[in-house]
Amino acid sequence: MNRAPVVTPERRESTSRPGEDSSLPLPGSLKAGSSRLSPPLVALVAMLVLLWASPGLELTHAQDTGRETEIEREVIGRSVEDRPIAAYRIGDAERVVALIGGIHTGAEEESVHIVEELRDYFAEHPDQLPRGLGLVFVPNANPDGYEHGTRVNARGVDLNRNWPTEDWQAEAYHGDRRVDAGDEPLSEAETRALYEFLVDLQPHFVLSYHGYAALLEDNDAGAAEPLTRAYAEAAGYRHIREWPYYPITGEFINAMAEEGIAAADVELEQHDQEAFQRNLQGLLRVLELVAGGE
Ligand SMILES: [Zn+2]
Repeated sequence: MNRAPVVTPERRESTSRPGEDSSLPLPGSLKAGSSRLSPPLVALVAMLVLLWASPGLELTHAQDTGRETEIEREVIGRSVEDRPIAAYRIGDAERVVALIGGIHTGAEEESVHIVEELRDYFAEHPDQLPRGLGLVFVPNANPDGYEHGTRVNARGVDLNRNWPTEDWQAEAYHGDRRVDAGDEPLSEAETRALYEFLVDLQPHFVLSYHGYAALLEDNDAGAAEPLTRAYAEAAGYRHIREWPYYPITGEFINAMAEEGIAAADVELEQHDQEAFQRNLQGLLRVLELVAGGE
């Protein structure tokens, strides 16, 4: 099997970072099974315990915020090496904005951390989520790659070349280097899990985080163009309509477009101390527009 390179200069990914602890704990304030629940809440506790014990689904409560926030954690699939791929949901509204991190890890692992940080922020500040909207976070779409510090999954496949698009082909590139696009579209456990989850969820807008070109690229579906432009303006990134550097085949946001789902890649800026604030401003602006009907 063609082993893909971890880094390529064309996309400014050349600073490799060591793999860090890959565990994906719930935020400290969101641990299930708190002992602070008072007796009148016994029924609620029983319900939570039942839900917590059921496979793949648990509810946790943020109790430090004064306002009760529910985060629903769902295991949407498992990686090649059997690590869970988790989705976190805040708000039960049907109109949802979804954030995906870590399709590429290794040098791009900052994409995992930014989605975790945004998830934790909205768990602590649910008042920032406009009424009628929900947020779904999949911070670590490639947990094996994260664990091993690689761009690709445990089978060496580039998970942003493995999606069911009209242009999928086995011969795929990252810059001028060949990467493994898999045996066929959705040949990988990670892409299958995410695809089925998102097609079922039908989010209004999907943001997929990468590094490090400091720009956003929309997929031209639905409201993708105005929402992406607004995010880019608020976050201080460039907005492009088409990746100009090299052809990307079997790409995630194009698969979303073929399903009619608006999506954008967010290419973070490298070594950016302001990344969280910038992306929070971008996301808040998107939520404001979506709440207003965009
Ligand atoms: Zn990437």
